[in-house]
Amino acid sequence: MSKRTLVVGNWKMNPATLDEAKVIVRKTRQAASELAHTDVVVCPPFVFISSFNTSTEAPHMYLGVQSVSPYTQEGPHTGEVGVHMLRDLKVEYVITGHSEERSRGVSDEEVSKSVSAIVHEGMMAIVCVGERQRDDAGTYLETLTQQIRSSLAGIEAKHAKNLVIAYEPIWAIGATEAMNPEQVCEMSIFVKKICADIFGPEIALKIKVLYGGAVNAENASSIITIGKVDGLLVGRESVHIDGFVELLRAVDVI
Ligand code: PEP
Repeated sequence: MSKRTLVVGNWKMNPATLDEAKVIVRKTRQAASELAHTDVVVCPPFVFISSFNTSTEAPHMYLGVQSVSPYTQEGPHTGEVGVHMLRDLKVEYVITGHSEERSRGVSDEEVSKSVSAIVHEGMMAIVCVGERQRDDAGTYLETLTQQIRSSLAGIEAKHAKNLVIAYEPIWAIGATEAMNPEQVCEMSIFVKKICADIFGPEIALKIKVLYGGAVNAENASSIITIGKVDGLLVGRESVHIDGFVELLRAVDVI
């Protein structure tokens, strides 16, 4: 059986109001219910999550969040949300280690603690990794290897089924153009190889690798087919609902 394509919408700090958020969820749900081969995850800001704990109910549509605390116990952690607090809200996916989070000072060690908390809770961890820039000497490959290894430090093989790796070259996030699909292919193979080194080839094959960075309805299909990724992490375009619906339909017919 072929793997289902996974498309994750990272809404970031959008939209401005709950009413707008409800429209995006309703239209995404409608589109998702018509898809045959694609799973869709919407990751709204925390403040909207409790409004959607039932409203995302649609075949192949799931609720996610954009970050979670590395702390697993209630306590003096101002501004933090523990993964256990999401239990009753039907949240199934958690993005962690997004470059915008890392740029605020979140370390690989904290990311690995969050990954551990997420998988122990039985949720899916979408672990974001990616190089800030490229160089001819290929140093970025070492940086990426180190980032993946540190972010997954201490994760046991039995929890690998709860991992999704989102490869997002930082220079492509928010950019006008995505990485070209041939390069995406090289990088998805590279990421899968690192996962195989960590967990062994059989387990690594089950870990989905997504690409993220300036994905839209026009480039989504070629990134998946030529780039040989298992899905996409979509930022801006996930809240431009007409474009997102078009994107979902495009990847579903691959
Ligand atoms: C992201 O923030 O994860 C992302 C991929 O953003 P964008 O699609 O807007 O480049």
